[in-house]
Amino acid sequence: MTAAETHPPHPLAVDEVVDICRDLLRIDTTNTGDNDTSAGERTAAEYVAEKLAEVGLEPFITESAPGRASVIARYEGSDPSRNALLVHGHLDVVPADPSEWSVHPFSGEEKDGYLWGRGAIDMKDFDAMVLALVRQWKREGRVPPRDLVLAFLADEEAGSTYGAHHIVDNHADLLDGVTEAVGEVGGFSVSMSNDLRLYLIETAEKGLDWLRLTVSGRPGHGSMIHDDNAVTQLAEAVARVGRHKFPVVITPTVRAFLEEVSDILEVELDLENPEATIAKLGPIARIIGATIRDTANPTRLDAGYKDNVIPGRAQATIDCRTLPGRSKEFERQLREIVGPDVQVDYIHRQPALETSFDGPLVDAMADALRAEDPGARPVPYMLSGGTDAKAFNRLGIRGFGFAPLKLPADLDFASLFHGIDERVPVEGLKFGVRVLDRFLSRS
Ligand SMILES: [Zn+2]
Repeated sequence: MTAAETHPPHPLAVDEVVDICRDLLRIDTTNTGDNDTSAGERTAAEYVAEKLAEVGLEPFITESAPGRASVIARYEGSDPSRNALLVHGHLDVVPADPSEWSVHPFSGEEKDGYLWGRGAIDMKDFDAMVLALVRQWKREGRVPPRDLVLAFLADEEAGSTYGAHHIVDNHADLLDGVTEAVGEVGGFSVSMSNDLRLYLIETAEKGLDWLRLTVSGRPGHGSMIHDDNAVTQLAEAVARVGRHKFPVVITPTVRAFLEEVSDILEVELDLENPEATIAKLGPIARIIGATIRDTANPTRLDAGYKDNVIPGRAQATIDCRTLPGRSKEFERQLREIVGPDVQVDYIHRQPALETSFDGPLVDAMADALRAEDPGARPVPYMLSGGTDAKAFNRLGIRGFGFAPLKLPADLDFASLFHGIDERVPVEGLKFGVRVLDRFLSRS
């Protein structure tokens, strides 16, 4: 008897990816932002570790707080003199309310050619692709050209404190020699026509500044004349910030993106008025539109404790997102808008990132996409939000969003992120595995 007759053949990554993704979707890893109620990450980490150990990799599980577990493993490459590549995904998901969904968000149901569930595109799809692929490689005895560090992380959805930042702070040795990284929110397709698809590779992220505005006034009785009311003064400042439109600033990433899109659409690009070009992009205009200027959105108000008492203090929170290189000028402008009597404090700061769209790693991404989709046009773009790349950048690691996914033309991908009925096309998953296979083979 041949080996194939005595043992069932191992599944190929393009098939196993579907099973692994389904398994992961069935583990509820909801990140509530509160350690007591974020339960599933440990279960997911153990699942991942088992899948890695089964093929001979040596996963390390680290817990930053009870239940907040991440997994790291190193897949040794053939050339130890080369720097390592980090391939990272997060295991947690944002909450989902089953009553709003067409299927249960943790059922991992497969229907209409999609796998449905919270995390299907953000980002258990990519976790599954990486797992399925390295399992096939290990079984076949394949060796990557350089060390791959594989990371499956907790807590991305609530600021990465218990995941990527924990690793950087406490286990940086596991990232020894890593200079580049690929992770989420990039590599997905946006159809421009039947035979032309943009693939957005993330090379930049806006910075995140949560600011607290505080106004102190004179407390008093609500029945009397009062000209130093903290609530009134804060409300005026908040309204000014909320209505302010920061200037258009085109960074190299956004310029490269807009030039490519204008070329494809055959429209003249007016960098003074990029909104006209962006408006032609369909649903992803929501993402790109947020990357041409800083934004400042008031999100919380806090003042007072009784209906007839004027409080001595009033506070507001502003969610600010700044373009690369704009942090200082943004702060100056914001202070000017709120005025000298409003105290401005940073509650949380994560800097913007931007890297260039060039070099061997970028070539490997672009070539892998074009090999699997002849209609692929890889373009760099900036994410208006943030990812774990910000944490790894603290170690000087150059990060890209590259979790390849070919999407049907009519799918509104942007609205599925943290949205209802999140789902991933099964064919898209398989496509992602094939692209990743080519990419990692020559990375
Ligand atoms: Zn994500």
